[in-house]
Amino acid sequence: RRVVICAGTGCMANGAMKVFEALRKEAGDHGISLDIELDFEETRDRDGLLTKSGCQGFCQMGPLLSIEPDGILYCKVRPTDVAEIVSQTLLDGKAVERLLYPHPTTGKPCRGRHEIPFYALQQRTVLKSCGSLDPEDIREYLSQGGYRSAAKAYLEMQPDAVCGEILASGLRGRGGGGFPTGRKWEMARVQPGPKKYIVCNGDEGDPGAFMDRSVMEGNPHAVIEGMMIAARAIGADEGYVYVRAEYPLAVARVRRAAADAEKLGLLGDDLFGTGMGFRVHVMEGAGAFVCGEETALLASIEGQRGMPMPKPPFPAQCGLFGKPTIINNVETLASVPLILAQGAAAFKETGTPASPGTKTFALTGHVANTGLIEVPFGTSLRHIVYEVGGGVTGKDGRISEAGFKAVQIGGPSGGCLTREHLDLPMDFDNLTSIGAMVGSGGLVVMNQETCMVQVAKFFMQFTQNESCGKCVPCREGTRQMLALLDDITEGRATEETLPLLEMLARNVKVGALCGLGKTAPNPVLSTLKHFRDEYEAHVHRKV
Ligand code: SF4
Repeated sequence: RRVVICAGTGCMANGAMKVFEALRKEAGDHGISLDIELDFEETRDRDGLLTKSGCQGFCQMGPLLSIEPDGILYCKVRPTDVAEIVSQTLLDGKAVERLLYPHPTTGKPCRGRHEIPFYALQQRTVLKSCGSLDPEDIREYLSQGGYRSAAKAYLEMQPDAVCGEILASGLRGRGGGGFPTGRKWEMARVQPGPKKYIVCNGDEGDPGAFMDRSVMEGNPHAVIEGMMIAARAIGADEGYVYVRAEYPLAVARVRRAAADAEKLGLLGDDLFGTGMGFRVHVMEGAGAFVCGEETALLASIEGQRGMPMPKPPFPAQCGLFGKPTIINNVETLASVPLILAQGAAAFKETGTPASPGTKTFALTGHVANTGLIEVPFGTSLRHIVYEVGGGVTGKDGRISEAGFKAVQIGGPSGGCLTREHLDLPMDFDNLTSIGAMVGSGGLVVMNQETCMVQVAKFFMQFTQNESCGKCVPCREGTRQMLALLDDITEGRATEETLPLLEMLARNVKVGALCGLGKTAPNPVLSTLKHFRDEYEAHVHRKV
């Protein structure tokens, strides 16, 4: 048997490692040999494998523990449950019913993921292996076909064909803007010169977002392989993974993945016997939200203060150390090996024509099932909140049909979606058309008790703190906007306050230098658009 304990950050914080240790000991006491680690060359007889996975997604129910081939998923497992798991499941093959997830409608215990609506109603593609394979064992990735797409790119395809395949797939950057990845790569491919770079942007800083962290923790080799393919496409021989320093587990796992790939000759000076080389460096972020902006990120890698630069030139033309550089987000790069493996046409079968594929979201807030989810582009908000998410929770933590008020999508750069958007197919263009954006994929659900002015103020406080101060519209504009929001919530607002706030928001949006400043007013503008009555109630001291 294979026992997989979720060792994503959420489950770890809930005591997953104590369960891991208890299980190892209890199994040993019963004479069951559950190997936990094997050296590269070593094979041993064993009764089973006790392994740690990345985030299995259902964070609300953690620590999670899966047992294969039985297909059992145990929820909220404590060290005190371990004796029963060993005696009943590992020795007798029976499920411990009280640890199974109760079906929300029938109340019947769900034995495995296929019976649990949270999983069954998703389409997990990028996240498929997150939560099943051991991210610290390269052999598991290899056994699932890992690095075959990279081999194909290096051995069977020319750089223009790799770019062409990604362009044909319609893959768009998952980090926020939704720019076509193939077009970006092509821009770098045609630049002259022998030195080019690939940078993976793992500096996920949005409050409420943890998709990239989960992919780096759960399937780091997919990210490395995506970088290798991108390198082949543009002719790069060096890459950087810039990981948020507050993600120590992700840093460790990406480092280990790169080191293991190098140990096996998958990274280095001679990839697949072609004579072409590619090396990966892993760098911890500088602790500033603005370093997620691509030009600031490049400055940070170069050892300078992370401050954005005007574009053009674009990094694809003149990037890291002045060389053509591709910067892609973690989820984008993790999608690349899948596209090469299945082909562009197959990739396009999922999602919408203009936004093919799937998108991961971090589903949090007033929703029954918080966690990491993945659905095809074009899925409605209603499906995400009420089906996958299990519904909106009220003050008492109970599901309430009328409880939905809004969803903040895309973190501090995004906007809010309201009841009128519940059936809107969510893709890049539909969201942009209503003044929101996919952003990196944070989805914070809010119930009727939420004050939307306070929500806008929270995000404004965040961006104000994180403004790098380089340009006046953002540095001073966000400060003044925050002061006006303070006036509104603290009873000092006058009739002029709201028009002034609105005017300032529009000016910051136009005048700021980089994406952080340009999108900082979005939460204010979208809450003003949809919940102006709440602002007015504050102004007229009704709340
Ligand atoms: Fe810095 Fe804000 Fe200007 Fe961006 S918009 S450069 S974060 S001050």
